[in-house]
Parts: sequence; structure tokens; C-alpha cells
Amino acid sequence: MKVALASLTRREKVFSLANDGWLPAETARVGDVAATACLRRLDATSSWSLVGRLRLTLSLLCDRCAGEVLWPVDDEFVYRVVTEEDWPPDGEVDEESAALWPVSGPALDLAEVFQERVFLALPAKVLCAEDCRGLCAGCGADLNQELCRCSR
Ligand SMILES: [Zn+2]
Ligand SMILES: [Zn+2]
Repeated sequence: MKVALASLTRREKVFSLANDGWLPAETARVGDVAATACLRRLDATSSWSLVGRLRLTLSLLCDRCAGEVLWPVDDEFVYRVVTEEDWPPDGEVDEESAALWPVSGPALDLAEVFQERVFLALPAKVLCAEDCRGLCAGCGADLNQELCRCSR
């Protein structure tokens, strides 16, 4: 969903992404997606406030046993949207500039924002349980459920 920045005023506008076409291709979801963004112009120059909320449940695969792992995401975030001329703010990306969202054209693509939030919400390592035993590399047995057949 693209929002023309010029159409925004100081009065907050709420946008909801109804579909999920923006979900990263490598992710799957279970149930509904709630993605809303409140947008308003911050000043006369080129700066807008974006307050977003993203709620969905991702279906991931355990890194060890490939079993399904449900990963609930309940994410609230705030960005200051700036045009690319103001980017990067001081030539370096620090903590503060991480809260900036640069746009190159006259429109802000909310799908891109929510896609990025999904990436940020993904765990570095997906495990169905801390002590998941995984699959045996030899016989492929799911060691959570059965015994390895290699030595029999
Ligand atoms: Zn597992
Ligand atoms: Zn085995």
C-alpha cells in the first residue's frame, strides 16, 4: 500500500493493510494479520511520523527437526519518515537513525515497512524446544519421537 506523502497533514490518518501480499516469501502465517499504521506530517519540510502495530502468527520450521514452530508477533514501532535527501542524517547509521525510515519518492510504501518488521521479528535460530534433539543425520529419525536406527 503506497501512501502519497503530500496527502498527509498534521492530523493523524490510520491505514490498515488488509491483505498479506507483502509477507516475505519465505514466511508463512497462521490466522489473521493485523497491520495498522498511523501517519501524520511532523513539520512543513519533509518529515512524517509513523506509528505502527503488527500482529500475526508466523509458522516457522524448527532448525533441527523441521517441525512447525508457531511464532507470535506483536510489534509496535515508531519511525520518523524522511526523504532521501535527508538520508543518512549524519553520514552514519547510529541508534537514533535506526528509527528513521528513508523514502526515495513521493510515496511511502507501507508494505515495505511491515515486511521489514517481519524480518526484524524473526528469531536468529528457530527451535521447537530448547532441547530439541533434531533429526539423525544418518537415518533421518526424529530423535524427539523415536530412536536412531543407525546402530541397529
Ligand atoms: Zn525441533
Ligand atoms: Zn540414525
